[in-house]
Amino acid sequence: MTSASPSAPIEFINLKAQYAALRDSINARLQKVLDHGQYILGPEVAEMEQKLAAFTGARHCVSVASGTEALLISLMALGLKAGDEVITTPFTFAATVEVIALLGAKPVFVDVETDTCNMRAAQIAAKITERTRAIMPVSLYGQCADMDEINAVASAHGLPVIEDAAQSFGASYKGRKSCALSTIGCTSFFPSKPLGCYGDGGAIFTNDDAIALACREIRVHGQSKRYTHTRIGVGGRMDTLQCAVVLGKLERFDWEIARRAELGARYTKLLAESGSGIATTAIRPDRDCVWAQFTVFVEQRDAVQDGLKQRGIPTAVHYPIPLNQQPAYAALCCPDCCPDSNHVAARVLSLPMSPDLTYAEQDRIVAALVEVVGALRA
Ligand SMILES: *Cc1c(COP(=O)(O)O)cnc(C)c1O
Repeated sequence: MTSASPSAPIEFINLKAQYAALRDSINARLQKVLDHGQYILGPEVAEMEQKLAAFTGARHCVSVASGTEALLISLMALGLKAGDEVITTPFTFAATVEVIALLGAKPVFVDVETDTCNMRAAQIAAKITERTRAIMPVSLYGQCADMDEINAVASAHGLPVIEDAAQSFGASYKGRKSCALSTIGCTSFFPSKPLGCYGDGGAIFTNDDAIALACREIRVHGQSKRYTHTRIGVGGRMDTLQCAVVLGKLERFDWEIARRAELGARYTKLLAESGSGIATTAIRPDRDCVWAQFTVFVEQRDAVQDGLKQRGIPTAVHYPIPLNQQPAYAALCCPDCCPDSNHVAARVLSLPMSPDLTYAEQDRIVAALVEVVGALRA
């Protein structure tokens, strides 16, 4: 990649620069799989699972076909069935809520904090009923939710907690790693996530031997051994080739986490010092964010997005409509029950973010954002 001239296009997530840095290692690992030919559950699958379990500190890692599949298989392993309730947030990617509905259960929404966009732990207790079977917080934008408070209310009611850690792999919370903070942690290796592969992939983490065994069996059609189906399962394995990509990316992942933290802090500082008053996502002092997204809050978002686009800066909105307002889920719950989710959904704007973002690009993005927001206010 040539270094940034003022008009060079900026990637929203620069996967090309990452591949350029890891090319030899990733190519060699992919070639090895092509040579041994064990495309399904080959040796790279177990190697990746062991490395990721060690990385997070969880006893078990079960790789699966996607982050969505990780959530679905986890709920199946917990025995979720029609009529059950799962407490979660409406301000998330559709998959979090979709898997609950797919099993015939009911998502029960708790509103979010307006500065972190994570679930309000203090509002969970009031939503627990005799049908509640699990609590599913999302560690949004790469920052863990209030996991200690959530675990406390869950354990007081004997409920499991599933952390949707699709955006937070590599993040830490009070010195412990995301995915290993609750009964189950689920992550995604979708290419744009903090640890991505080159297709779909995901993983389930747990310290519970019985849950891990159930997840392993469910991901291969509920088989306890070949052609013995002890449970109802799915075809939910992660390919050996995709595991090889993750193994290649793990080689500089610690550097990437540090770089993400540095870039996130630098964005926050540059915007604070700009005098523009543009609010950024708050990070709690007891956790380290991996900045899956660097998200700011702006008024007149469409116009801001448009102004940035004209200046060659791509942005994205995660997410414009809370799930309780979506046509598919509106019937399940009150459309106005989460005012703070509505508030942030109208204002959030994610800026380009990835470990290979350069300081020059970041300076250009901040200058453009400050200019566009200033012009709209004038
Ligand atoms: C990406 C994402 C998922 C789904 O992961 P896939 O691998 O795309 O299936 C689930 N939850 C959240 C919060 C996500 O960001």
